[in-house]
Amino acid sequence: MTIAFYGAAKAVTGSKHLLTLENGKRILLDCGMFQGGSDKVQELNENFGFAPDSIDYLLLSHAHIDHSGLIPRLVKEGFKGKIYCTPPTLELCQLILNDSAGIQQSGSGHEDLGVSGTVLYTKEDVEKSLQQFETVPYNKECHPDEDISFTFTDTGHILGSAAINLTVKEGKESTRLCFTGDIGRNENRILRAPQPLPQADYIICESTYGNKFHSSLKNTEERLREIVLQTCVEKKGKLIIPAFSIGRTQELVFSLNVLAEEGRLPQHLRVYVDSPLSVYATDIMREHAECFNEDMLEYLKFDDDPFGFPQLHFITETEDSKLLNASKDPCVIISSSGMMQGGRIQHHLQTNLASERNTLLITGYCEPSTLGGRILQGAEKVRIMGEEVEVKAEVLVMNEYSAHGDYEDIARLLHGQDKEQLKKIYLVHGEENGMEKLKKDLEELGYQNIQIPDFRMSYKLPSS
Ligand SMILES: [Zn+2]
Repeated sequence: MTIAFYGAAKAVTGSKHLLTLENGKRILLDCGMFQGGSDKVQELNENFGFAPDSIDYLLLSHAHIDHSGLIPRLVKEGFKGKIYCTPPTLELCQLILNDSAGIQQSGSGHEDLGVSGTVLYTKEDVEKSLQQFETVPYNKECHPDEDISFTFTDTGHILGSAAINLTVKEGKESTRLCFTGDIGRNENRILRAPQPLPQADYIICESTYGNKFHSSLKNTEERLREIVLQTCVEKKGKLIIPAFSIGRTQELVFSLNVLAEEGRLPQHLRVYVDSPLSVYATDIMREHAECFNEDMLEYLKFDDDPFGFPQLHFITETEDSKLLNASKDPCVIISSSGMMQGGRIQHHLQTNLASERNTLLITGYCEPSTLGGRILQGAEKVRIMGEEVEVKAEVLVMNEYSAHGDYEDIARLLHGQDKEQLKKIYLVHGEENGMEKLKKDLEELGYQNIQIPDFRMSYKLPSS
């Protein structure tokens, strides 16, 4: 068997890993879109680098667009096999892929992405690709054919997110390969902690925050409250929070919900979620209490809507979004995209970034070439939708809301593995220097043979 890395290799987007068995069968793990502000992104999204009609199965870890976003393109270019994922992942994919096609067809920027101009696929292509999906619940073994079986285990990253635990038979030998997808945090306000991985021979492991330590969730809500009060009460400004529509937005809304229920938010302060995708994703989240952790299930006993409180307003219509943009009243605005590269957040930044009264609160990873990445690096002026804007608003960072686990979460997930049996770990989905640090730290824990694969390079996996 060989493995080749067609995305998220020494980078964080475009997740796509291709297994080719000795008998010629091909399994693609994820089919994500490349994101970011560079010119190369368009070209990478247009050319897979392999023949889509040569793929037999697609196994999908979760619905985030950098893992699922090119599925309709793969089908359009000839992939006819089944697409396996968990039931919530299918629901979220329906939403996110249709949204992505709609924005591509309308010619505007992508809400969670930042790619504009090219139509990679249409809504018809999305509909066609959705016919090929087949859902498999967590912890249920699935056999696509006699040589291949897999089980999804919960990674607690977003609703429906899974690690893919594959067993591949080649002659008398069998190989166990695990792809972690994105790894959530052990401490999560809503979702369960990542489930331990079954023993593997090879692990493809994400490493977004593998070189970082997140602070504990305990003080998160208090810190968020302080930022709200400083911005909206003391400075009488707007608190702008860019957030991915799926995952982080619901976590932020839940935290604000807790503060509001406890009477710890100013009573007249309005909180807006300004993104149609976030509104629909929140509806899907409400329907999947089976994925919630015990604390959250306990919370539901006395608050049956953890994503709704009187001061909270969900905005779907463009006209309402424009009105909000024009308003000078202090408020909290949660809008996408998380990396600020596209979507309604750009309008809010264009209007509000140049005033010291306002605060921009960054709650997650921003690829360095994106607008969010440039602001994080301390840019004093940025271009937003063709206009130069000074960055005078206070810029704060809270990584506690990251949906990605830190070094300890990754080490915890690998902890149960017998190091003798584990032949190799491939680190993907991270920035190169962060990966080098994670590699060194894992080696110190006794893990051998850790590799940081190159983009589009193929590696042979000897079987047991
Ligand atoms: Zn993700």
